[in-house]
Amino acid sequence: MACLIISGPSGAGKSTLLNKLKNEFDFYFSISSTTRAKREGEIDGVHYHFIGKEEFEKGIENGQFLEYANVHGNYYGTSLLPIQKALDEGKSVIFDIDVQGYKIAREKLKGDYVSVFIMPVSLTELEHRLKNRNSNDSNISTRLKNAIDEVSCICEYDFVIINDDLDTAYYELKQIFIATELKKLTKIKKEIILSWNKGD
Ligand code: ADP
Ligand code: 5GP
Repeated sequence: MACLIISGPSGAGKSTLLNKLKNEFDFYFSISSTTRAKREGEIDGVHYHFIGKEEFEKGIENGQFLEYANVHGNYYGTSLLPIQKALDEGKSVIFDIDVQGYKIAREKLKGDYVSVFIMPVSLTELEHRLKNRNSNDSNISTRLKNAIDEVSCICEYDFVIINDDLDTAYYELKQIFIATELKKLTKIKKEIILSWNKGD
């Protein structure tokens, strides 16, 4: 199974880069559930499953989530079932989750993942992107404050991309995605070769 976990401050350009990757490669993008309000242009079931707090908390009680966290005052979580289904079908899965969710997910995935942290070039540029984004985010200052905490977790990730020039950042993400798939193939090769040694 190939899992690529992407984190980074809100506004760093994660969705922009992932959309480019979707146009070129076949993978399952984990659609999170969230209690935050839908932004203009976002579609329920495509960008997120937009659900109420009560429904989310019921999901927590029922053990529906691989991981979940409270980010910028709203719940965000990854449902387990669609991930399992995609992995069973041999698809690579990409997660866009925050640093808290990463800490939980990496325990559960037991090393079977690659992680990348996407950074803006500066906090000033991040503020500029958040303000310019077509959204009605009321909590831009919370997002900027949280960005500082999130960046302090950077050493916990396998790769870091500084999304300044979009083409350069996309080139790097593409190489990391290919490496993630190669890691999956290497695991399969190792299992086959080790089974030879056992005389299977
Ligand atoms: P995230 O998914 O990390 O919250 P988005 O992909 O929504 O971030 O990007 C936030 C804003 O920044 C969007 O308006 C997007 O068009 C813009 N953006 C993304 N990457 C770049 C870049 N390299 N240069 C300039 N603007 C960018
Ligand atoms: P946004 O509101 O800008 O779409 O996302 C805010 C933050 O929530 C981002 O850092 C994003 O990575 C994170 N996020 C999105 N989905 C999930 C999820 O399922 N779990 C966790 N833990 N974080 C998520």
